[in-house]
Amino acid sequence: MQKFVAVCENQDLEPFLSAETIRYHFGKHHAGYANTLNKLVEGTEFENLSLNEIISHSRGTNQKIFNNAAQLFNHNFYWKCLAISVDLPRGKLSELIVEQFGSLEKLQDEYISFASTIFGSGWSWLVEQNGRLKFINTQNAEIPFSEGMNLICTVDLWEHSYYIDYRNDRLKYLDKIIRNCINWKFCAYQIL
Ligand code: MN
Repeated sequence: MQKFVAVCENQDLEPFLSAETIRYHFGKHHAGYANTLNKLVEGTEFENLSLNEIISHSRGTNQKIFNNAAQLFNHNFYWKCLAISVDLPRGKLSELIVEQFGSLEKLQDEYISFASTIFGSGWSWLVEQNGRLKFINTQNAEIPFSEGMNLICTVDLWEHSYYIDYRNDRLKYLDKIIRNCINWKFCAYQIL
């Protein structure tokens, strides 16, 4: 039985992410993490735990399980954060953006610039903690799970997320995705 599955609800992200990228990124990389995790936990102490429990219990003790579990979580979250941007941020998220950045465009500028500083593979997150928005970059599979912190958005910065469409131009990928492809409706819902 496949306990954990890779989920990608919004697969229509043209022209910012091609169908070929989705086919490889979701169909091969993301699905691969789920398949590997299912095999790795079988018959172990992790077998009956939730994905979040596996992530917290394997961190620092079982790197292989942690990497696959965290990558499964990150990708499930990443796809939810993506949609052709038709909605603007609403509610508390909208208020915090105006208060801290002045406008959505300014937040986008800073998110792009902050995310572009990652060296190597990782993830760039927009989070909220104690009523403040902030950006956090994590290496490899890491997730900024911490008490009282809400994950709002993430952008995958592993090469496999942009190489088919943007080749080595990671900044262009960041610019296109963050300005055109964020599902603000989903993001705003994370801190309602
Ligand atoms: Mn990825």
